Amino acid sequence: MALDKDCLFCRIIAGEIPSAKVYEDEYVYAFKDIEPIAPVHYLFVPKDHICCAKKITAENSAAVAKIFEAISKTAEAENIESFRVINNCGEDAGQSVMHLHFHMVAGKKMGWGEQSLG
Ligand code: AMP
Ligand code: ZN
Repeated sequence: MALDKDCLFCRIIAGEIPSAKVYEDEYVYAFKDIEPIAPVHYLFVPKDHICCAKKITAENSAAVAKIFEAISKTAEAENIESFRVINNCGEDAGQSVMHLHFHMVAGKKMGWGEQSLG
């Protein structure tokens, strides 16, 4: 797997930085967000370093399919009926860690709109 030694999420995947794991397979690692915005707030990341959604290509997009499979399995395993999946790409969208990740958020009634999760 291609890891970037300066990337926070690569270091979490490598076990160099602790995390609360919720799911793992050959392609995907998932862990609890350190600053949850809802009762359930997990981050799903590809084990290969991809910086952001803008860099998803025909060559690496299988990782994204694997992430959505992992989200579905986790929802099933934890009996999560309703959830939201969020990806922030780039500065204006609020991406703060440059390793592709999908937030899985659940456990509360969510509104819709710019500040709905803030
Ligand atoms: P984003 O703002 O979309 O890039 O999301 C990055 C997320 O990573 C934020 O929700 C942070 O709370 C979360 N985060 C940052 N550092 C850690 C960490 N060490 N363990 C778990 N989550 C983290
Ligand atoms: Zn990385």
